[in-house]
Amino acid sequence: MSGVNEIRSTFLDYFKKNGHEVVASSPLVPRNDPTLMFTNAGMVQFKNVFTGLETRSYSRAATAQKSVRAGGKHNDLDNVGYTARHLTFFEMLGNFSFGDYFKEQAIELAWNLITKEYGLKKDKLLVTVYHTDDEAADHWKKIAGFTDDRIIRIATSDNFWAMGDTGPCGPCSEIFIDRGEHIWGGPPGSPEEDGDRFLEFWNLVFMQYEQVTKEERISLPRPSIDTGMGLERMASILQGVETVFETDLFRTLIDAASSAIGRGPDDSNVASYRVMADHLRSSCFLVADGVLPSNEGRGYVLRRIMRRAMRHAQLLGAQEPMMWKLVPALIREMGQAYPELVRGEALITETLKLEETRFRKTLARGLGLLADATETLGSGDMLDGETAFKLYDTYGFPLDLTQDALRQRSISVDLAGFTDAMERQKAEARANWAGSGEAATEVVWFSVREKTGATEFLGYETEQAEGVI
Ligand code: ATP
Ligand code: MG
Ligand code: MG
Ligand code: MG
Repeated sequence: MSGVNEIRSTFLDYFKKNGHEVVASSPLVPRNDPTLMFTNAGMVQFKNVFTGLETRSYSRAATAQKSVRAGGKHNDLDNVGYTARHLTFFEMLGNFSFGDYFKEQAIELAWNLITKEYGLKKDKLLVTVYHTDDEAADHWKKIAGFTDDRIIRIATSDNFWAMGDTGPCGPCSEIFIDRGEHIWGGPPGSPEEDGDRFLEFWNLVFMQYEQVTKEERISLPRPSIDTGMGLERMASILQGVETVFETDLFRTLIDAASSAIGRGPDDSNVASYRVMADHLRSSCFLVADGVLPSNEGRGYVLRRIMRRAMRHAQLLGAQEPMMWKLVPALIREMGQAYPELVRGEALITETLKLEETRFRKTLARGLGLLADATETLGSGDMLDGETAFKLYDTYGFPLDLTQDALRQRSISVDLAGFTDAMERQKAEARANWAGSGEAATEVVWFSVREKTGATEFLGYETEQAEGVI
């Protein structure tokens, strides 16, 4: 059985052997890219190399890239715990060609890695190509010996990648494995494609065009390759388990959570353990890369992730802050590959402890209020916006935490009502300040308050507004 550390090094060693420079993961906070919340793919650190703005001493590279898909354009936060394959933090293994090899060799390199090094069985594998990409289809036939029925043509944007409205773009080809009839789901492109039977694990992007304007697309003189394989998904395949949460690394984290709580998962609460283990990883890696919980921007995404995990800990019966107790297990598993975890251990531990201590002051009462407010509600009903706002404002419940808490019961939140309540509160606060003769101070105070949330100004006892949704 291959553990995640071994799977990662097999990947990097293989591409090194094939002439690639092994490049370190870039931080989760992208450098000089305010348009992107977090690094969410391997290609992010190479954006300027692909567009030609920057050159490197190598034309082939391979990475294991820390990636977070929470907040921002790619947001898998709501999937975690509900699918077999989505995490908020994951490692994306990738190989890149900057105007060096193209489609045929990219397919060949991928095929040899998965069948020879990882030993996947050909008869379980299938691929997608963009519907007009005959070239890719032909290479798959020749290299993998696939018949047409194993090469699925997809016409949607799922198989056409673009960096933005303009810039490099091109078709992609994704590799899937069929894990058997006992798991619900259908092949890509079918109505049941969201099931977990057919697992997507590798995306090969063929950057062959440049979108110059909305209307004009030209062929790139030296096309490039960008690929991404989910390490945890490959681990679930190689370890023969149905979900990423049953792989070696996640089992260790879930075991650590079980001992911190004093009991292990059962069918009724396994999702809580999974969410906690996933959110622990994203929280620790984000703090290690300099993000701290706050009420805006990246820091607020981190706070939302942390508080979601903390609600699950509470549901499982945690009597005291516990997330910080899982940090040593994570560092044992991942500290060697990511020394920033080791360096950041004290800060990570303190940050988790402080956030959970603070949130626990209001968490139980907030959950009590939520239970009372929804006592008579059932599937298809809606929680009023006023209560959702009170939970947010007084009890520190991010809106998505409330939505997540009600999801299993199929209760939604009245979002318009929530926004109304928030606006009303802002207007009232403004009215109270009007006429104080300190107009200039007031403006400053409001802009600061809106940026940071009122907590800092009204004192911790009141546990006031979080400021940003
Ligand atoms: P999915 O359709 O399963 O959401 P995706 O098409 O959004 O995946 P890509 O953007 O193609 O994913 O990313 C490349 C690879 O990274 C995927 O094939 C998968 O192996 C991995 N990956 C993507 N998102 C996640 C995630 N949330 N958790 C774990 N691995 C992921
Ligand atoms: Mg996705
Ligand atoms: Mg996909
Ligand atoms: Mg994909």
